[in-house]
Amino acid sequence: MERSLFLSRPSTDHGALLASPFSAASLTAFRRRRFLPHDSSLKIQNQLHSISSLVLGASSSTVRCEASMYNRQTVETVDLDWDNLGFALFPTDYMYMMKCSQNGMFSKGELLRYGPFELSPSSGALHYGQGLFEGLKAYRKEDGSVLLFRPQENALRMRIGADRMCMPSPTIDQFVDAIRLTVLANKRWVPPTGKGSLYIRPLLIGSGAVLGVSPAPEYTFLVFVSPVGNYFKEGLAPINLIVENEYHRAGPGGTGGVKTIGNYASVFRALKKAKENGYSDVLYLDCIHKKYLEEVSSCNIFVVKNKVISTPEVKGTILPGITRKSIIDVARGQGYQVEERPVSVEELLDVDEVFCTGTAVVVAPVGSITYLERRVEYGNKGIGVVSQQLYSSLTRLQMGLSEDKMGWTMQLE
Ligand code: PMP
Repeated sequence: MERSLFLSRPSTDHGALLASPFSAASLTAFRRRRFLPHDSSLKIQNQLHSISSLVLGASSSTVRCEASMYNRQTVETVDLDWDNLGFALFPTDYMYMMKCSQNGMFSKGELLRYGPFELSPSSGALHYGQGLFEGLKAYRKEDGSVLLFRPQENALRMRIGADRMCMPSPTIDQFVDAIRLTVLANKRWVPPTGKGSLYIRPLLIGSGAVLGVSPAPEYTFLVFVSPVGNYFKEGLAPINLIVENEYHRAGPGGTGGVKTIGNYASVFRALKKAKENGYSDVLYLDCIHKKYLEEVSSCNIFVVKNKVISTPEVKGTILPGITRKSIIDVARGQGYQVEERPVSVEELLDVDEVFCTGTAVVVAPVGSITYLERRVEYGNKGIGVVSQQLYSSLTRLQMGLSEDKMGWTMQLE
């Protein structure tokens, strides 16, 4: 059975459940993955064993990391099939956890072994969707050090989202420190240069118990990581989008502009239908006129016409992507005119290139868009010139291969 949380027998006398930041399906996939015959696979087996014990409630609910184990694990590298990483979860060694109670202040957080944690059955996140997440990446440089890309922007976006969702949130320093600690503790899982990145998933949830519809009395901030490769199975090959005409992702006054957990399950239906029909993803329209482009399920959209780059403006119904913002600055820095404005679906018939941006997808060229049974193709089955140029500029910066004049990267070690 597919579950987004592991719920095992209560581990404490106040009825808390053990919740896992990863799904049952991911654990099975992780077990099935082929690790090379190396002694690290034995350690991973042991780790799985301890995770499984936690799932079954047979062990203590949280395992704090012992310094000796932590030091040993961070100097090794994991022997994974780095060339075939997709965008799936690999449970890693440690996660970070920090709690906050009604006074709105987060206490000092700590690194814990990655695995299930206690959650009240009546937590606000489970019932009323009071939760936010973030996504950012760490890249390994050729000298072995690790680079983060604009983590303060994710911290700020989480604070803005938390305000919308009536939640307290970590300060920017607390957020960035948590990211640094978690990445360094899991450093052996950062893919070699050019093979992928370490995806970092910060999560803020209303963990306290509520019954009536109201904000939770306690909040938990978590950070965990997973090595990843390409988001779309197409890799850098162009993706195929379908414009969704029935379901909407967001509406004015709603929460489309923040990264709240509930925004995602609501698009599963459209996404499932699109994938069943052979499309890579869904392009949403505004819900009032059904005419203006909004965004794709997990990325922003850009069109290029006569070297002018346009993207829907941020007005509360689309996520203000950090990649979007970075690409706008990179493109302007290279002399392109970039317009943030309403982009109508009819314009798609007449543009030269279309691409998507996001942390997971980076810059994904769009090869076709289908709207009301009509399919328009771009880029002659390849990546367009402007998309390619922006992709190279951004990824070289993120990987530390070009000079960071903007001060966007943060070197960890
Ligand atoms: N839109 C949505 C709905 C997303 O989930 C994401 C991914 N965070 C994006 C856009 C792109 O945002 P970013 O560039 O910050 O990853």
